[in-house]
Amino acid sequence: MEMYEKNFDVVIVGGGLAGLTLACLLGRDGIGVAVIDAADPNKPMIGDERTTAISYGSGLILDEAGVWGRLLSSGAAIKDIQILDGDSPLLLNFLSAEVGGKDFGTIVLNSDIRAVLKNKVDALDCVQLIAPSKVSDFEILPDCGRVILDDGGVITGRLLIGADGRKSFMRDWLDIDVRRWDYRQRAVVCLVNHEYPHNNVAVEHFYADGPFAILPMADDRDGKHRSSVVFTEHGPEAKSLMHLSAATFELALQAKFPARYGEVKMIGERSVYPLGLVHASRYIGPRMALMADAAHGIHPIAGQGLNLGFRDVKEMAALVRAAYKNDQDIGADELLQTYQRRRRPDNVAMIAFTDGLVRLFSNSFPPLRLIRRAGLKAVGKLSAAKRFFMKQAMADRS
Ligand SMILES: Cc1cc2nc3c(=O)[nH]c(=O)nc-3n(C[C@H](O)[C@H](O)[C@H](O)COP(=O)(O)OP(=O)(O)OC[C@H]3O[C@@H](n4cnc5c(N)ncnc54)[C@H](O)[C@@H]3O)c2cc1C
Repeated sequence: MEMYEKNFDVVIVGGGLAGLTLACLLGRDGIGVAVIDAADPNKPMIGDERTTAISYGSGLILDEAGVWGRLLSSGAAIKDIQILDGDSPLLLNFLSAEVGGKDFGTIVLNSDIRAVLKNKVDALDCVQLIAPSKVSDFEILPDCGRVILDDGGVITGRLLIGADGRKSFMRDWLDIDVRRWDYRQRAVVCLVNHEYPHNNVAVEHFYADGPFAILPMADDRDGKHRSSVVFTEHGPEAKSLMHLSAATFELALQAKFPARYGEVKMIGERSVYPLGLVHASRYIGPRMALMADAAHGIHPIAGQGLNLGFRDVKEMAALVRAAYKNDQDIGADELLQTYQRRRRPDNVAMIAFTDGLVRLFSNSFPPLRLIRRAGLKAVGKLSAAKRFFMKQAMADRS
C-alpha cells in the first residue's frame, strides 16, 4: 500500500450535500479543505433520485456557497400547501399570499444539488475532494486531527468535521451516545409525470401508515408536468410497495393522487428509505464536530432534515471563517463548544416538532383522530397558529 500524507486546515468526512456545502463556504475564504467521501463522485449516489424542499433560509446559504442561481433555474417553487387527513373532507390550505407572497420553498433534485456543489468544489483551488475513499480510523493530537483512509493515506487538519450521515463512523469512533427511534415506516420515493399542471401546489395527505406527499417539480425538457412523490408505508417488509410490479405500483399511485392531476406515470425507479430518528447526545469531541444527519436525522414529514443540517453548516462556517481571519485556532475547544451551544436548541426544537407530527398524524386511534381534526380546523381559523406552521414549513429564520 502506498503511504502518503496531506495537510489541510479542515477535513470534512462525508461529501454529501451538507459536507460539500460547508467546503464551498470555507473554500471561498481561502481555507484549505479536504472533503473525503466513500462514494464515487462520477456515479449516481443512493438518494440522488430524491428531491429536497429547499427552504428560503437554505436558499440564502446555498447562495452564499455560490450555487443557488443554478438550482433556482432548475427547481420549482412551492406556492401553496394543501394538508389532508385520511378520509376527512377537511382541507387545510397554506397560501403564500398569507405570508407576503413568499414561496414555501423550492423543490430541487438531490442529484442537481450534488452536481452544482461538486462543480463549485472543483473550481476552488484550496478545496480537494478525495473520493472514492473511505475513512477507517482517526488519531487526535494536541494541534491536529489525523484521518486514516483505507488506502493507507493520512489526511490531517486542525479541525475534523463529521458530515458522514445517519450511520456516522465518526460519531461511533467518538463513542457518542445516540437517542434512536424507529418509526416502523418506510418512505418509497419516485418521480412521476402527470397529465395536468400542479400549479406549484404541494400536497401532504396524512394516513395512519404515514404521509403521502406530492411535491411540484419543474416541467421536463419535453414540457411534461412532473412531481416527486413520497409514499410512506408501514407493516412487514415483505408487503412493501417496492415488491409491486411497476404497473400495479402506478395504480396505487393513481388512487392516491387527486383527480385534478389526471393520468399519472412513474419515471425511472422507486427507492426506499427506512424512517427513524437519531440524535447524538453531543456534537463535539477534541478537534472534531458532527453536523447535519451525522448529528440529527429526522422523519421527512415536514421536509426539514437537510434544511436543519444547512443551519449547522452556516453556524460552523461562520465560526471557522471568523477564527481563521483572526489567526485563531479553528479547532479550539471554545469554538466547538460555541457551535454546540448555538445549534442544539434549534435541532432539539425541530426534532420535537417533527416527532410530534409523526405521532399525531400516523395514528388511527379514534380520540386522537378527533383531536387532530379539531386541531386542523382550529389552525385553519386562527391566523397566528397558521402563521406559526407556515414559518415552520418555510424554516424561515430571516
Ligand atoms: C424520503 C426522504 C425525503 C426527504 N426530503 C427532505 C426535504 O424535502 N427537505 C429536507 O430538508 N430534507 C429532506 N430529507 C432529509 C435529507 O435527505 C437528509 O437530511 C440529507 O440528505 C442529509 O445530508 P448529509 O450530507 O448530512 O448526509 P448524507 O447525504 O447521508 O451524506 C453522507 C456522506 O458521507 C459519506 N460517508 C459515510 N461514511 C463515510 C466514511 N466512513 N468515509 C467517507 N465517507 C463516508 C457518504 O458516502 C455520503 O456521501 C429527506 C429524507 C428522506 C429519507
